[in-house]
Amino acid sequence: MPELPEVEVTRRGVAPHLEGRVVTAVILRHSGLRWPFPVDLAEKLCGRRIGVTGRRGKYLLIGFDHGTLIVHLGMSGHLRMLPCVTPPQKHDHFDLVVGDQVLRMTDPRRFGAVLWHGHDEGAISEHLLLRGLGVEPLEESFSAQLLYRHTRNRSAAIKQVLLAGDIVVGVGNIYASESLFKAGINPKTAAYRIGLARYEKLALAIREILAAAIEQGGSTLRDFMAADGQPGYFQQNYFVYDRAEQPCRICGMAVRQLKQGQRSTFYCPNCQK
Ligand code: ZN
Repeated sequence: MPELPEVEVTRRGVAPHLEGRVVTAVILRHSGLRWPFPVDLAEKLCGRRIGVTGRRGKYLLIGFDHGTLIVHLGMSGHLRMLPCVTPPQKHDHFDLVVGDQVLRMTDPRRFGAVLWHGHDEGAISEHLLLRGLGVEPLEESFSAQLLYRHTRNRSAAIKQVLLAGDIVVGVGNIYASESLFKAGINPKTAAYRIGLARYEKLALAIREILAAAIEQGGSTLRDFMAADGQPGYFQQNYFVYDRAEQPCRICGMAVRQLKQGQRSTFYCPNCQK
């Protein structure tokens, strides 16, 4: 599943090809993805110039002077810039054509989304899907104090609290396991039992791990965006994620796997207390 780093790398990849360009066509090959495509999307966008691109959590935001196109990659979606003559493949459901290039969305499982939010509907930050999101982990507003303050009455396990996304966005299943390992915190620990000093370690770990993933993705941006071949999401060397029963890279003890809210968590029982 695309996580925050993949969405940010995608944004950085497509931005230079989109910003300042005029939309010449919108092609929809399905009635919709997770939700129906907005009615009159072609009418809304054709002839309009694209402004800046942004991202909020895992939502890619393509700005126009009259609103914002919101794109979510869902479970299996990806975006690429292609020459507009490239024939569509199965699962290519949405094209945003800008002159001789096309931003093409492929989404085999159709859990993604393409939505429109007009300026007349209010600020984009107040959109139904965006307004409940926690702070961005790579922005100044994210801190140990924030984690500490918002967990004083939360008895849920810290892994679950991170995944909920209402305090901080972008710490998905992989990065939650990895961040808790780096911070030395057992994923089953009740969030309110963690003190400020340990949240300092966790906040730092989250920032470092997400920044490193984005940097690594950026270094493979050319492959990632390549018109030929499959645009896979970048593989990384994880400390604990997907390493059940393998030796911990720090202490050698077997990495354990457990289920928390239907999702797998990986941790080292020796390094994480
Ligand atoms: Zn260990």
